[in-house]
Amino acid sequence: MTTFVLASHNAHKLEEIRRILLPLNIQIIDSETAHLPDVIETGETFKENAVLKATEGFKQTKMPVLADDSGLCISALNDAPGVYSARFAAKHGGYPAVFDVLNNQLKDNPNRKAHYVCVIALAMSETEVYTFEGELHGTLAFAPEGTGGFGYDPLFIPDGYHKTLGCIPAEEKNKISHRAKALEKLFEFLKNRQ
Ligand code: IMP
Repeated sequence: MTTFVLASHNAHKLEEIRRILLPLNIQIIDSETAHLPDVIETGETFKENAVLKATEGFKQTKMPVLADDSGLCISALNDAPGVYSARFAAKHGGYPAVFDVLNNQLKDNPNRKAHYVCVIALAMSETEVYTFEGELHGTLAFAPEGTGGFGYDPLFIPDGYHKTLGCIPAEEKNKISHRAKALEKLFEFLKNRQ
């Protein structure tokens, strides 16, 4: 059994990654168990932040470390809030207050296209780092709908759906999400290395 550290405090992410990597005989321990301090996200891209967190984690633990970074990119806003998604929401009073802010910024713009991005980084050493990216494309609703998911989900309608991620069951979201797509790539990579 190989052990990886997940540089995250998010219990949902931990469970999802544990479930996916278990068939490969990889066990995942969390930041607390590995005594991993938080890293400040100073990168300007998802990849930079994910790589930063994974390599810093490796330096501290000397174990393989997984880290991810994700966010929502809105086409008409030059892909903002992007890597700043969590900070943007916090600055504007959290959810659902930030939905009004976004709708005001978009005003009557007919282009309501948006996509979520997730980059997962795996640091096997300080220099051997692999990244895996997933995207989920969709449009923004005019008003939030549903209570499922988290973050911007009540405003995000995935392509091919007529309702927001706030209305879509978690099992369904976990099949189509940006995170699921990045995890699939990680799984394939690790499977091929065994
Ligand atoms: P982090 O990568 O966990 O730090 O997430 C960054 C931020 O991006 C979250 O706090 C949300 O604002 C946004 N975000 C990332 N993934 C999702 C998602 O699946 N649904 C809704 N919001 C998300």
